Amino acid sequence: MTNPLLQDWTTPFGLPPFDGIEDTDFGPALEAALAEGRRNIAAIAEDPEAPTFANTLEALELADRLLDRVAGVFYNLAGADATPAREALQREMAPKLAAYSSEITNNRALWRRIETLWQSREALGLTEEQARVLMLTRRSFLRAGAALEGEDRARLTEVKARLAVLGTQFTQNLLAEERGWFMELAEGDLEGLPGFVVDAARAAGREKGAAGPVITLSRSLIVPFLQFSPRRDLREKAQKAWAARGANGGDTDNRAIAAEILALRQERAQLLGYESFATYKLETEMAKTPGNVRELLMQVWEPARAQAQRDAEILTGMMREDGINGDLAPWDWRYYAQARRKVEHDLDEAELKPYFQLERMIAAAFDCANRLFGLDFTPLDVPLYHPDVRAWEVTREGRHMAVFLGDYFARGSKRSGAWCSAMRSQSKLDGETRPIVVNVCNFAKGDPALLSHDDARTLFHEFGHALHQMLSDVTYQSISGTSVARDFVELPSQLYEHWLDVPEVLEKHALHVETGQPMPRDLLQRLLAAQTYDMGFQTVEFIASALVDLDFHDGPAPADPMAAEAETLARIKMPDAIVMRHATPHFAHVFSGDGYSSGYYSYMWSEVMDADAYRAFEEAGDPFDADTAARLERFILSAGGSAEADALYTAFRGRMPGVGALLDGRGLSADSP
Ligand SMILES: [Zn+2]
Repeated sequence: MTNPLLQDWTTPFGLPPFDGIEDTDFGPALEAALAEGRRNIAAIAEDPEAPTFANTLEALELADRLLDRVAGVFYNLAGADATPAREALQREMAPKLAAYSSEITNNRALWRRIETLWQSREALGLTEEQARVLMLTRRSFLRAGAALEGEDRARLTEVKARLAVLGTQFTQNLLAEERGWFMELAEGDLEGLPGFVVDAARAAGREKGAAGPVITLSRSLIVPFLQFSPRRDLREKAQKAWAARGANGGDTDNRAIAAEILALRQERAQLLGYESFATYKLETEMAKTPGNVRELLMQVWEPARAQAQRDAEILTGMMREDGINGDLAPWDWRYYAQARRKVEHDLDEAELKPYFQLERMIAAAFDCANRLFGLDFTPLDVPLYHPDVRAWEVTREGRHMAVFLGDYFARGSKRSGAWCSAMRSQSKLDGETRPIVVNVCNFAKGDPALLSHDDARTLFHEFGHALHQMLSDVTYQSISGTSVARDFVELPSQLYEHWLDVPEVLEKHALHVETGQPMPRDLLQRLLAAQTYDMGFQTVEFIASALVDLDFHDGPAPADPMAAEAETLARIKMPDAIVMRHATPHFAHVFSGDGYSSGYYSYMWSEVMDADAYRAFEEAGDPFDADTAARLERFILSAGGSAEADALYTAFRGRMPGVGALLDGRGLSADSP
């Protein structure tokens, strides 16, 4: 029997032959691809020829071609259209793929070939891109411990295994604490809550088997409760439970786990020859050093804290009018901020929604890409993996650039959130290979489908990631498209969000679903003004978390993370009425895995860059300025990871990003009203 995943695909543009693939094809195809990868790796490592860039690095680039092709289809389907069979296979494959990748970095013969090339790199006559691929490959082997010997090598393996166990335990404890707590409400306690909160509280009550509505620790329920409930006693109870997640004593307490994780990370970094875990972690990032991160965060911290203090005075005044004395507390902030918002920005989501039709917003994203980069989009009629998915061919001046798939509607089989992935990445090593890129969202279906302004922003965000893939123009797959530093990868996506709010874009595409009239100027103004609301609070709660994360990893590991957290907050003079967005015992970004450890800052780092990058268009006097768009494509959107992120940014902008545009965008500048 032939497995369609292992055949050559003679479909249009080499798209996966979705109509011929059965779920039972994936397991055998993944196994076959892993076996082929192992044969290829062994052939490279055992090659009797002396190492060359071609027989080692280029061969490595191509070793996983089949695995990339099969996994590209499988993991996209597993996320966007799960079935029990796909979920079971995902669980089965996770340890196999992890073992495969550590086999490669643990292959001594392969490591020696890479190191030999590195030592003679000056004499190899490499292009810039090749030198970059050599440096990155060697670095990823080194960071995985390839150069360690004897006891150190064994200890690193132990440390990594223990960290994996602790990360999972941290996550499971947090889930248990979040599931275990709820607050029952009597009918009278629902006073002041809008309909959608009441509905959600009743649904949560049914789910928990309670007699009536309940408030749980889910962000989507507790935040609106804290915003709308006039009952200060209930708000206090809910806020305190929310803040105490992971620190309630007993089996699910995360404090000791956090301490052990920090100590093991420090040990891991030192085994690999780094001074601290933050130094190790930031080596691969645009920020490069803990000092650079701290400097950026503190530049934003002071103005944000000053704004939060001005806001606290106004909110305290409102609380006094309610007859409450004493200090504004964390359970008061959201409630009075919501009341103030209603007075200052009377913005009703129901009034906005008819203007954001999904079809029009897709057209708007395409239209901006056409004006900026000359891209054209033509619908394709090809078999896809679900009836809701649509495909377009992307061309420029008649030349094929990419296939773009849009999978926009929510369904039970799709995981939550929104993302962009490539089923095939761009490269030129094995002949010109153009990408197949997917945007997956969770918008509510409707006829016609209407989006919120946030949804429309998500659509533009994911399309920005897609452009980073579709415009990619490098030779090697390992550095193509979005294969860039974590604190750089959100630049194209967050930057693209700016075009949604360009007045001429909204006037052309935000047309009322019934009348066809463009959004009135006044509504547009109110929409834009409301976006900077309560930014002092939001910035303070974020930066406090980012600084605690950085302090934890920058130097010796603290024996008592809770005391270290308190010290950091005291040093930066954290306002009393605001708490960290994520306190240590429930800071999943930092402790559930390595992804955002000493990396939580990167959300703000990216925002600094997108604000500063968009300002280049403002300075040119035209959001579609051709020259600026050409530079954006040349130095960022087509360049992938072919150079250091700071070099790419500097080439585009003529300098490194400054925080001015971000402070203006958040309404935190000294001269902001
Ligand atoms: Zn993103």
